[in-house]
Amino acid sequence: MRRILIDSVTHGPLTEPPPQPDAAMLAELAASLERASRAKLGRSLSIREVDAGSCNGCELEIHALGNAFYDLERLGLHFVASPRHADVLLVTGPVTRNMREALERTYNATPDPKWVVAVGDCAVDGGIFAASYAVAGGVNAVVPVDLHIRGCPPPPAEILKGLIALMTTAR
Ligand code: SF4
Repeated sequence: MRRILIDSVTHGPLTEPPPQPDAAMLAELAASLERASRAKLGRSLSIREVDAGSCNGCELEIHALGNAFYDLERLGLHFVASPRHADVLLVTGPVTRNMREALERTYNATPDPKWVVAVGDCAVDGGIFAASYAVAGGVNAVVPVDLHIRGCPPPPAEILKGLIALMTTAR
């Protein structure tokens, strides 16, 4: 008995050393953990709204997204006061000549990666104001647009659909 005790103290264990984790398995686990963490934590977008010359009809529908019925914040969508905090520029209206520079500066102030969503028929191509001398064109005429949400104005549910589609593909 004494010898067994001395042997167990002076020699290491006789069992096999544990194998090192497999690199491919670790990579698979890391990918699935990343997917899970994105699903839990990465589903949010910060939105800066820019009225580039709208009649305010589109804004009324966008404001409705914050009411108790649509409650967009529960979905991880937030309006922010500065383009520097934004992932998405939500732009309404035809771009008037007076607002052109403001839209360009807002776009340049938004950090990459960023997305531009044009809301309403006017934002697509100028809509009913397209022929006006005061209009530079749709949003695409001034900054690159990633998503168009059509309608005059588009209802809140349509705007929400577009934002959710963006949130699920952009991340
Ligand atoms: S799309 Fe319609 S509601 Fe929106 S700014 Fe143009 S005219 Fe107004």
